[in-house]
Amino acid sequence: QVKRTGRHDYRFFTLAMQHRAARHLQMVNALRYALEREQMQVVYQPQISLATGRIVGAEALLRWTTPELGGAVTPAEFIPAAEESGLILPIGAWVLRQAVRQARAWIDAGLPPVAMAVNLSAMQFRNTELPELIAQILEEEGLPPSYLELELTEGVAAHDPQGAIAIMNQLHERGVRMSIDDFGTGYSSLSHLKKFKVYKLKIDQSFVRDISTDAEDKAIVSAIINMARSLGLKTIAEGVETAEQLSFLREQHCDEMQGYYFSKPVPEAEFRQLLSKPRD
Ligand code: C2E
Ligand code: MG
Ligand code: MG
Ligand code: MG
Repeated sequence: QVKRTGRHDYRFFTLAMQHRAARHLQMVNALRYALEREQMQVVYQPQISLATGRIVGAEALLRWTTPELGGAVTPAEFIPAAEESGLILPIGAWVLRQAVRQARAWIDAGLPPVAMAVNLSAMQFRNTELPELIAQILEEEGLPPSYLELELTEGVAAHDPQGAIAIMNQLHERGVRMSIDDFGTGYSSLSHLKKFKVYKLKIDQSFVRDISTDAEDKAIVSAIINMARSLGLKTIAEGVETAEQLSFLREQHCDEMQGYYFSKPVPEAEFRQLLSKPRD
């Protein structure tokens, strides 16, 4: 009896693995056509200044819906597949183009100025043509470089710190800003911070989640904000969902916040409405 259960478990396990491998293959195949089939969309999440309560930035986040996989696929699932297959290069370039074009359109519509933050994968960041590509997109779309903010994770420097620093320097010289996403979850953050031409730290949502109740998370967030201030960097807290979290961040003089408490990522038209809402 024990044996049979064991064998049954084994078969179940391999079937689950086969299913996952099959879905991965299906995903990579579908990803190849996602752009030309117009299955991808960029949504925008507001970033709010804690000093003024106003929207000062937008984070561009990619969405994918495809009938081949039965509907919406989350970035947590398809971004890794896009990275492994190299498809993140054309897809990432498309996101950059859309986001930069959008930022320009908001300026043209006379809306208050907002920075446009775009996520970059480590693979995009290893591409030595990246600074040239970005300069070209900014030029063609007519967006001043200071409007663009690239969100990198600490992992971009893992393989080749010197190469990463060289690319960061080039982007910095062109006037593009860079922030460290999910700050606090990667390796070697402190030793590299000095050499990185970083503008802002994004405090990872895993530290923000229990900030109202967990003394250690309070201590970590407070330490990150203080360190950032000493280094002359801005801070933004990710994943802010409650008034309690917000009031702690305010007390600690965090610069900005982003999260469901203010708004989820929304399509362009909705973001425009948020941006044009009159404020006191
Ligand atoms: P991220 O860059 O750290 O983005 C923040 C994620 O947190 C987003 O998930 C956002 O929808 C979610 N979020 C925002 N506020 C809240 C909140 O209050 N509570 C909770 N629980 N979550 C919140 P999303 O859109 O599913 O993206 C997940 C990750 O996928 C991103 O993490 C980013 O690493 C990656 N990603 C998304 N779009 C792109 C892209 O265009 N290029 C690249 N390379 N990566 C992307
Ligand atoms: Mg991000
Ligand atoms: Mg993040
Ligand atoms: Mg993340």
